[in-house]
Amino acid sequence: MDKKIIGIDLGGTTAKFAIMTPEGEIQQKWSIDTNILDEGVHIVPEIIESINHRLNLYNMKAEDFIGIGMGTPGSVDSEAGTVIGAYNLNWTELQPVREQIQSGTGIQFAIDNDANVAALGERWKGAGENDPDVVFVTLGTGVGGGIVAAGNLVHGVAGSGGEIGHITVDPNGFECTCGKRGCLETVSSATGVVRLGRFLAEEYAGDSTLKAMLDNGEEVTSKDIFELAEDDDPFALMVVDRVCFYLGLACGNLGNTLNPSSIVLGGGVSAAGEFLRSRVEKYFMEFTFPQVRESTKIKLAELGNEAGVIGAASLALKFA
Ligand code: ADP
Ligand code: ZN
Repeated sequence: MDKKIIGIDLGGTTAKFAIMTPEGEIQQKWSIDTNILDEGVHIVPEIIESINHRLNLYNMKAEDFIGIGMGTPGSVDSEAGTVIGAYNLNWTELQPVREQIQSGTGIQFAIDNDANVAALGERWKGAGENDPDVVFVTLGTGVGGGIVAAGNLVHGVAGSGGEIGHITVDPNGFECTCGKRGCLETVSSATGVVRLGRFLAEEYAGDSTLKAMLDNGEEVTSKDIFELAEDDDPFALMVVDRVCFYLGLACGNLGNTLNPSSIVLGGGVSAAGEFLRSRVEKYFMEFTFPQVRESTKIKLAELGNEAGVIGAASLALKFA
């Protein structure tokens, strides 16, 4: 039997698993709830238990695997195999994850942050078409990113490479959770879209369903704003245009710096689809120089939820 790889996508609510071939075909998938009680001390032992249980069930042994790869929230030291500051897992102290999982399963283990592994997944099996230079931007509750340059993830000296969410797009903009102002995340994440809507509503005087909803104090989501824009609500269109301006500016400068074959937009907000993509592309064209404009494409992610687990598994290929 050919050896397999295992991918784990660890999140604050569930941990997703997949057993895959080294070519990237998913053979088995399952998931468990993430138990974040007691400082998150149960998380890794329950992952180990779940893997060992699966292998038992299907009569597989540690030797049948090339390795395990995992994506996790928090600050990851991929060299040391440790994680710290993953607040949605209650991991405030340093977690020796690689040591625990390798000794608990007997299988080699590699780890990276969740946005980076999603980038690897989209690059390998999704919109990135396995090209060596691909940038991935996730537009969810926050904005995450991963940069693959010349076939390798960019980590930087402190593991903070590819933090696209903290690109400054407005020096006088909203305060970000990171402490600075005007980060892409403050205006182009799902929460940022709503924040921008509330801010712009103050000075908008025309007729608009969105404006009325905001003025009435109704609960409004990023999805609502994009849907109203698609229905030609003039104020919603203005908000979406501004969101796409900021995204186009950030993507333009990523393009000018890295000239990847594609910049892939993923995450919940990317469900807005071509409506979003085409508007980001319009500003991207404005902010790039000709050679980049003609060679770097703005694309939508293709793998959805599975990008993380597929990309995580691909980390294990380094042990092949
Ligand atoms: P998380 O960071 O929690 O994983 P997701 O990536 O799942 O978040 O994104 C969820 C967000 O995506 C929600 O706030 C939702 O409003 C937004 N969203 C979902 N569908 C759309 C859409 N069609 N257009 C714009 N935003 C959307
Ligand atoms: Zn920031």
